[in-house]
Amino acid sequence: MAKIIDGKAVSEQIREALKKKIETLRGKYGSSPGLAVVLVGDNPASQIYIQNKRKACEYVGIRSYYHHLDIHTPQEKLLDLIHTFNQDPQIHGILVQLPLPKHISEEKILTSILPEKDIDGFHPLNVGKLVSNTPGLRPCTPAGIIELLDYYNIPIEGRHAVVVGRSNIVGKPLALMLLHRHATVTICHSRTLSLSSYTRQADILVAAIGKPQFIRGDMVKENAVVVDVGINRVDGKLVGDVDFESVATKAAAITPVPGGVGPMTIVRLLENTVQAFESLITPNP
Ligand code: NAP
Repeated sequence: MAKIIDGKAVSEQIREALKKKIETLRGKYGSSPGLAVVLVGDNPASQIYIQNKRKACEYVGIRSYYHHLDIHTPQEKLLDLIHTFNQDPQIHGILVQLPLPKHISEEKILTSILPEKDIDGFHPLNVGKLVSNTPGLRPCTPAGIIELLDYYNIPIEGRHAVVVGRSNIVGKPLALMLLHRHATVTICHSRTLSLSSYTRQADILVAAIGKPQFIRGDMVKENAVVVDVGINRVDGKLVGDVDFESVATKAAAITPVPGGVGPMTIVRLLENTVQAFESLITPNP
């Protein structure tokens, strides 16, 4: 039976360390990190995500400023609000919860956020820094996954990592991060022919698909490390993209859903906010 990679426990440890670090920073600079959080509309899943992120901020001592805008809010109004946050020295991170309503261009909004305050790591400048492997703010979910693998001392270098999913927020950035850590990386997607011929080769298999229990035991190599990014609601229950029962009997280690990647994403958001605070308060010469 696979070892459980406990993202919840690891994230709690990181949270405690961050709480102490923020206290120290407050002593040193006389201020603490501030995060502006914007939700447009009433998407129930987004509301839960935001609630969890704000609670986590409060716990570690990050000031969070929540702006809940009506679903019909014009794009210009959201851009004006982001501009205000960009200028505000008390705000070090800006989070605009996705997805946005159709009349608002995600690209325009994400590009309008000051790259130094882009704690989601979605601004094209930060994407470029990721591609070229130079320091910058990295997307939370993939960065959290790497942190989790490192915590468990799971070797990445030289291993074959297969990432199923190529979204801009998970699959693509994670594939790059694994590549920078010297894995041999294969990216699969909905047009991949004979998907299981790739997944069966994976030493590290990541499922970021958005399809409940899609990866079954027969698609996984014996003793692989399996990371399940999926969050799917089935009959009111949260399930991942991996069929836990059949995969856990073959894998060496596996992340559960819930309690795997999800809590690491949130804690990474906190870490990014602290990173943004430090870089803004002590700018590079
Ligand atoms: P997404 O933007 O919908 O991307 C899904 C990816 O899966 C796409 O690249 C798609 O391929 C691929 N795919 C779909 N069907 C496939 C199939 N039959 N075979 C192989 N590949 C297939 O989703 P996302 O935003 O990356 O999120 C993925 C999952 O992770 C979702 O369940 C989401 O809720 C979850 N998530 C969790 C966290 C967390 O903190 N745990 C964070 C973010 C997302 P194409 O590109 O060809 O369409």
